[in-house]
Amino acid sequence: MILGLLGGGQLARMTALAARPLGFRVHLFDPHPHPPAGVVCDQVWRAPFEDEQALDAFAKSVEVATLEFENIPTAALERIGQRIPVRPHWNILHITQHREREKCFLRDKGFPHAPFRVVNNPAELAAALGEIGPAGVLKTAEFGYDGKGQRKIQPGEDATTAWRDWSGDPEERRPHRGVLEGFIDFQAELSVIVARNPAGELATFPVSENEHEHHILSASIVPGRFPPAVHAEARRIAEALAVELALEGLLAVEFFLTRDGRLLVNELAPRPHNSGHHTIDACVTSQFEQHARAVSGLPLGATDAHSPAVMINLLGDLWPAPDREPDWRPILREPRAKLHLYGKERAAPGRKMGHFTLTGGNDLEAILQKARGLKRAIAGEV
Ligand code: AMP
Repeated sequence: MILGLLGGGQLARMTALAARPLGFRVHLFDPHPHPPAGVVCDQVWRAPFEDEQALDAFAKSVEVATLEFENIPTAALERIGQRIPVRPHWNILHITQHREREKCFLRDKGFPHAPFRVVNNPAELAAALGEIGPAGVLKTAEFGYDGKGQRKIQPGEDATTAWRDWSGDPEERRPHRGVLEGFIDFQAELSVIVARNPAGELATFPVSENEHEHHILSASIVPGRFPPAVHAEARRIAEALAVELALEGLLAVEFFLTRDGRLLVNELAPRPHNSGHHTIDACVTSQFEQHARAVSGLPLGATDAHSPAVMINLLGDLWPAPDREPDWRPILREPRAKLHLYGKERAAPGRKMGHFTLTGGNDLEAILQKARGLKRAIAGEV
């Protein structure tokens, strides 16, 4: 079967690498000159997502198409969808590529979420803070990612100042639309990745406990250190969302766990997710293989973990210079550590350049301490 991938970053690269052993050929569509997935795909269509001729030619060349990030214009997906199945369906993208629509979907379908209000100006922000404040997080209604377009609002802060600061538009010349969320004093963040194929089969990966630095995922700890009831409830909600959305593909569901033990859905992503990278080295079936299986209508693989795992992201900040990588020997010398580099040509602060996963034994705390030590060694701190 020939699988089409829209978007050629590290998620597409790891999907292509996982699809190959199953006999797939992989064609890629990406506007950039050197996408990380390009070197592991059979054919690359390098064109903007608005290029209808290129989209048609790409669609003709593959049997099913999927995507690695949600901001692909839905018009492109509709166009490809006239010829071949595009999974997940663009209807799901339409919801998850827009924060306001995603929040309203969660509310209307009765899924637990942080309180929110849609706000268009400082007066509406002040009113919303009165209802769901005093502290909040103001976010763009459209998706930013990794915390972009977000501003925390402290109790008692002046709404007009906060609004102008958030919008970067002190004269308020342009209209802005935001979603104010109540500030959640969470004890932890976690995520679940669920797969559903067109036959309606479901398979759910173990719950990841996620740590962020500067709004970017820094580590995933699996299985998350929570009571069994939290694991069961997170998986139940993720599966209910997959069914509600009639998902064909993968869905990553990010949650807050509040101090009083409630789970709130924070964000949905209908694609492989950074918090599932450990599945390559720790699970019977990786999220990337599962992605290929789910979108092409194959039976799903088992999601059981062979071992607890810690995944550490390797951001460009660790690079001594944009074109000079760190010394990887501390990771390579560690028998149970697996290094994954994404082949990006230049490092930049906050840019996801690779990750490593540490597995082995049953002592998750020991794995975590060792993984943190390896990261310090890579950073030259020890
Ligand atoms: P997001 O891009 O919406 O996932 O937000 C990025 C990060 O900001 C989250 O992973 C949280 O650490 C933090 N954050 C976002 N929304 C809230 C909220 N309502 N309350 C507290 N922290 C938040």
